[in-house]
Amino acid sequence: MIYFDHAATTPVRSEVLEAMLPFFSEKFGNASSVYKLAQVNKKALDDARAKVATILGAQPNEIYFTSGGTEANNWALKGMAEALRKQGNHLITTKIEHHAVLRTCQYLEKQGFEVTYLDVDENGLITPEQVEKALKKETILISIMYANNEIGTIMPVAEIGKIARTHGVIFHTDAVQAVGQLPIDVNRDQIDLLSLSGHKFYGPKGTGALYVRRGLPLPSLLHGGGQERGRRGGTENVPGIVGLATALELAYQDLDIKTAKIQALRDYMIDGIYQRIPHCRLNGDRTQRLPNNVNFSFAFVEGESLLLLLDLEGIAASSGSACTSGSLDPSHVLLALGLPHELAHGSLRLTLGENNTREEVDLLLEKLPLFVQRMRDMSPLYEDYLKQNS
Ligand SMILES: *Cc1c(COP(=O)(O)O)cnc(C)c1O
Repeated sequence: MIYFDHAATTPVRSEVLEAMLPFFSEKFGNASSVYKLAQVNKKALDDARAKVATILGAQPNEIYFTSGGTEANNWALKGMAEALRKQGNHLITTKIEHHAVLRTCQYLEKQGFEVTYLDVDENGLITPEQVEKALKKETILISIMYANNEIGTIMPVAEIGKIARTHGVIFHTDAVQAVGQLPIDVNRDQIDLLSLSGHKFYGPKGTGALYVRRGLPLPSLLHGGGQERGRRGGTENVPGIVGLATALELAYQDLDIKTAKIQALRDYMIDGIYQRIPHCRLNGDRTQRLPNNVNFSFAFVEGESLLLLLDLEGIAASSGSACTSGSLDPSHVLLALGLPHELAHGSLRLTLGENNTREEVDLLLEKLPLFVQRMRDMSPLYEDYLKQNS
């Protein structure tokens, strides 16, 4: 099988699995207990927290482990909204956030908060000026993703952080797609809260973390046994946390070399598709783009059918985000770019990983044009188009 869906999830790296395994068996102790067996767990947790903090440029006591990116986003938004309600009720985000942010914002609107959803340009970018213009005296939180999961655009996070800090507004970023691929520094970018997820960088599913700048009044998410410094009760998922931290550390080893390789493969794929398939559009910015993301719309083609044809050849890809696949609604991200429904429906996302090869991309470049042409040959709209342009 050829796997081109690394934005949806990644396999657990063998070194990561190996690091996790003892914590299911001989090192099974509860990190809160006092005997030696448990001290091993406490130390593993401390080490993991320190590793995550180092990668983000944070302090260990600013890292809170969660069950994933969705939980981290929910906690950051609902928690800060609740904590700052007396100061104001206005939040700023974008139209192309992951549903874990968008649906949380919709929930907050029902609770009486007002949310500004910033438009993006045709390449999926916002400008820092848009953020500044949207500020009101009631604004308490800006939540803007670091990089988009469908089209790979990288937002001007440092500039947004600067604006937020200047105006005394808290800045959260959903960095789930960026962490593991881009160098992150919460102080350089003046980020107050940051969400990440283990399974997007070769760690286990159901693991994540929220960075919370020291001193922020984020309320506890889970009331219980006082774990995570009283903010998230419940016995810690030690194997998962060890896996997440190991995966994160490995992701940043030789990052430059890995990025150069993946980016070259990405550009080879983009150029190859442009050369072989007429009437297509690359979605997302050409340069402000994650090194592993390719997203195209093909006119007169239905994305879901294209996925099925690729699947028959053993090629796994995605149309839009994994969560919206299976529903017939076009992607909110592609609609926000201003794409007409037909083009939003005819989209294909291919996200590369460390183990993808040029041979695999060559096979895609051989098959994809044939499939697109086969579908166009059956399309009445394409027939009309050909008649009008002959
Ligand atoms: C995958 C993803 C999430 C959700 O993370 P989970 O760990 O799967 O809950 C949130 N935001 C973005 C941008 C993502 O890509």
